[in-house]
Amino acid sequence: MAKKSIVAIVGRPNVGKSSLFNRIIREQKSIVEDIPGVTRDRIYGNAEWLTREFLVIDTGGITLADEIFAKEIKIQAEIAMQEADVIIFALNFKEGLTDQDHMIAKILYKTKKPIILVVNKYDKKGSDNDMFEFMSLGFGNPIMASSTHGIGIGDLLDAVVYQLPKVENTQKDDTPKIAIIGKPNVGKSSLVNSLVGEERMIVSDIAGTTLDSVDTQVQYNNKKYVLIDTAGIRKKGKIYDGIEKYSYLRSLGSISNADIVVLMIDGTQSITDQDTNIGGLAFTEHKPIIIAVNKWDLVKNKEKAILEKEEEIRSYFKYLQYAKIIFISAHDKIRIGKIYDAVDHINEMLKKTIKTSVFNEILNRAQLVNPAPDHNGGRLRIYYGSQVEAYLPTFVMFVNNPHYVHFSYKRFLENQIRLQFGFEGVPITLIFRERK
Ligand code: GDP
Ligand code: GDP
Repeated sequence: MAKKSIVAIVGRPNVGKSSLFNRIIREQKSIVEDIPGVTRDRIYGNAEWLTREFLVIDTGGITLADEIFAKEIKIQAEIAMQEADVIIFALNFKEGLTDQDHMIAKILYKTKKPIILVVNKYDKKGSDNDMFEFMSLGFGNPIMASSTHGIGIGDLLDAVVYQLPKVENTQKDDTPKIAIIGKPNVGKSSLVNSLVGEERMIVSDIAGTTLDSVDTQVQYNNKKYVLIDTAGIRKKGKIYDGIEKYSYLRSLGSISNADIVVLMIDGTQSITDQDTNIGGLAFTEHKPIIIAVNKWDLVKNKEKAILEKEEEIRSYFKYLQYAKIIFISAHDKIRIGKIYDAVDHINEMLKKTIKTSVFNEILNRAQLVNPAPDHNGGRLRIYYGSQVEAYLPTFVMFVNNPHYVHFSYKRFLENQIRLQFGFEGVPITLIFRERK
């Protein structure tokens, strides 16, 4: 899978960062039902322009309690410089340049990353002279824009896409890319160390686009795997490491570049919102997932505890029912190899194809046992369906009316498919099409 680039918007409060952000991601309303535990507080979104896909983050959403403005803005700018491939520096035309803008500029001068200047709230076109004041910052010609009126947004996106790192010639490489995610202190860097140390066969460190992200290739049972962003996981002690939203961003960057996600939780503690929020990212990004319950060496009465922990996980991560759960000790290197086994299993599931005749038998039986309920003024009838070619298992079903699909019935169908065919660890996509 191609690496997704990250674009960050920085700027002082009230210049219109979140309005620009919303314009850029064009509020792609989530099609999934509201998922408890998945953060609704949007500071990132997926965007697409001229067929390039990228992630946008609004650093203004990374706020710190009890911090003076100067420190907060400094951290926002640093996070942008650290995480993004391209930075949009937003200014406010109505107010002109302020001391705070100069302060941000001074921080951004330190980066070699492309900076795109956008002067927002330019609601009415004036003359070219309007740009001069802002050019004095030394970031070149600004793009004059109005997020409320939709002016200049296309130019802004053109400039962004122009500056995105070129897509590497995607030589077909099917080495699975694994992201290890989880809140601080669950044991991510211990796991990386154990996975890498397991066989001293580190082939190479692969430098990523951002300075900070280094991937590591490892080998296990003669098979290759890539661990994403190992440098970022190991590096500790940045002032903003403890900021919850920052750890989401960090995770998000890794997740979007991964084929498979390992979500780590601390087995000695109860599950928290921070765990479920990070897990939610893997779900909304449609990634195959393995849940690794770590520090299991510390748990007493393990057999009973496993059952209890599994139950806890299933109830907190309702939307990740398909995830495989593994109990490990990263520190003592216990059952570490199970992670590679699970990755291999997921890879097999991704290649699995279901015969159309068998699939339709399942559909017919499912409808016989449990006919769809009335929903949106009618009752769903599924005529036939089949698996279609896609990276993730995807099934198209031809129906009388897609509006009659209730999400609980969709879930029922998914469960029937999983009961029959497995697909452990991978998300399944069901598409309903009307057959006239
Ligand atoms: P942020 O704090 O930088 O994220 O700024 P917001 O996006 O929250 O916008 C701050 C205020 O400016 C809001 O009241 C917006 O409606 C307003 N605003 C944003 N963009 C424009 C614009 O292009 N023109 C005008 N006139 N107002 C805008
Ligand atoms: P990260 O912040 O998620 O990268 O977590 P670290 O790998 O830095 O681990 C946090 C703390 O938990 C460290 O003190 C580790 O030694 C400890 N730790 C990590 N894995 C295990 C484990 O499997 N068992 C035990 N007992 N401690 C662990």
